Amino acid sequence: MKQTYFTAGPAELYPTVSQHLQTAMDEQIGSISHRSAKFRSIYQFCDEQLRELLTIPESHGIFFTGSASEVWERILLNCVEHESFHLVNGSFSKKFCDYATALQKYAHKQEKPFGEGFDYSEIEVPEYAELIAVTHNETSSGVQMRPVDIHKLKRSHAKKLIAVDMVSSAPFPDLDFSLVDTAFFSVQKAFGLPAGLGVWIANEKCLEKAETLKHGDQHIGAHNNLPMLWKNYKTYETPATPNVLFIYLLGKIAQDFNRIGVENLRRETEEKAKMLYKFVESHPQFSPFVKNDRHRSRTVVVANTQKPSSEIISKVKESGMVVGSGYGQFKDTQIRIANFPATDVEQIGRLIEVLGKI
Ligand SMILES: *Cc1c(COP(=O)(O)O)cnc(C)c1O
Repeated sequence: MKQTYFTAGPAELYPTVSQHLQTAMDEQIGSISHRSAKFRSIYQFCDEQLRELLTIPESHGIFFTGSASEVWERILLNCVEHESFHLVNGSFSKKFCDYATALQKYAHKQEKPFGEGFDYSEIEVPEYAELIAVTHNETSSGVQMRPVDIHKLKRSHAKKLIAVDMVSSAPFPDLDFSLVDTAFFSVQKAFGLPAGLGVWIANEKCLEKAETLKHGDQHIGAHNNLPMLWKNYKTYETPATPNVLFIYLLGKIAQDFNRIGVENLRRETEEKAKMLYKFVESHPQFSPFVKNDRHRSRTVVVANTQKPSSEIISKVKESGMVVGSGYGQFKDTQIRIANFPATDVEQIGRLIEVLGKI
């Protein structure tokens, strides 16, 4: 049976993917040189569409990597000499912090119990931290940090760089890139593409920092370091042979999103999130895991289940829908429902109907 995937990534493919894929095949995208004018125009198109979608100013470059977790390492190598500071409220933010330790940085962290989020007022940034790492949407726990809090954090620590993991929410959060120095996402979450491409947005301040570290004989990495990515980016090229097909597809999906309008996408995401939270709050078999509404993710809804989650997951599957299990220790007691643009109000409504009969 054909399933609708409400999983948090890989996720349901955006409905237009197969048609764009067919066009890519017809145009033999898979065989063109990454040093050709054709590729440069594909990169440029993707860049322009993402700029429009996320309101990215000229001070920032847009680069491609293998995945989002690769970007954790790139940011730490290129933007941190000694100390980073991590807001940890789930497994992904914790991994970002673990990468810092593995790269022999001094990684400070402020940590929250699973299911709780951060507000600006309670954050204490260590004096010597060069970079503040925040996760807009914790895919593991279903917790979000509101852009307003992220912006305040940067304003009050203007000299530090701020990095935002927007992997499982972009293009939903309305981030002000005049404040956000660097951000990143993967395409297999809310952009509704198969996995295989990471997108790294970074500004000139990040580049300056990387140049300074490099000239100070610090190791900034041989592969995809920022100065090299930026140099190639000037002609819409990449240091290594990139995933040309996916850069093409991402440009097309971003264009589709722009045609709908990011405001409309965001409004629809809010509307579907409301439907899901209202349901899990009112149904006796479920309850929302994240108690505080302002910390509730709008793109990954996590619900506690009365019955073992595996029972719910298999029941839902019989109706042609896939929801995710809880993360880590919550595997058996929670379900996670992705709320990405690929599934519309009607599909969310149908999922709620099926869950309601359990
Ligand atoms: C999925 C995810 C990542 C890692 O993305 P990959 O594409 O697997 O490298 C990082 N952060 C968050 C919040 C995620 O949801």
